[in-house]
Amino acid sequence: MKLRRLEMKLQRLAGFTRPRAALEQYQTPAPLAARLLYHALMKGDIGGKRVCDLGSGTGILAIGAALLGAESVTGIEADAKAVEMAYENAALLQADAGFIVADVKDPSLSSRAGTFDTVVMNPPFGAQKEHADRPFIDLALVLAPVTYGIFNAGSAPFVRTYTEGRGEITEKVGGSFPIQRTFSFHTKDVQEIDIEILRLIRRQ
Ligand code: SAH
Repeated sequence: MKLRRLEMKLQRLAGFTRPRAALEQYQTPAPLAARLLYHALMKGDIGGKRVCDLGSGTGILAIGAALLGAESVTGIEADAKAVEMAYENAALLQADAGFIVADVKDPSLSSRAGTFDTVVMNPPFGAQKEHADRPFIDLALVLAPVTYGIFNAGSAPFVRTYTEGRGEITEKVGGSFPIQRTFSFHTKDVQEIDIEILRLIRRQ
């Protein structure tokens, strides 16, 4: 499937009906989701791979991975309502993806180590709860040898230090992320947030 076609399909997915600020629920815009997934596909990390989406929300990354030919896709998400929406979204695009309701901080999730090849994620940036992205990075490195994550621009040095001895950044792709006015503390109708997509590999 061409990048543009993937983007158009993902454009049809429903986002959060009542986004929760504390969980930093922002749906990844379709062009950015498609870009991350396509990049991962070209690197050989999606086709025929067992993909896990951490903080899968309404499912855009998970569903896109399924459409690009992942062998299996599992989303992990704390909010049961978002998981319901993700199943509806998957049905809309006839994508084969499963979702489980769990908190990434749940230590029992590490028993799934070795059952995934690739993690994709757009974790909270920690704007509401400082360091909210850390448990995502921790779990990603346990679950799979390769991770693609969306972070605030300029996060690479922090991620590099934080994962020292456990992982390594092998690529950084820049971009921006338009956020619509979602929460009362937002002062603009649309705000462009500069982001970077990092590809992390686990140190053996
Ligand atoms: N992956 C989706 C959602 C990104 S928003 C997308 O790309 O559109 C971040 C998601 O992480 C939200 O759905 C939020 O509910 C979820 N989340 C936040 N903290 C979490 C936690 N501790 N465990 C699991 N999911 C969490």
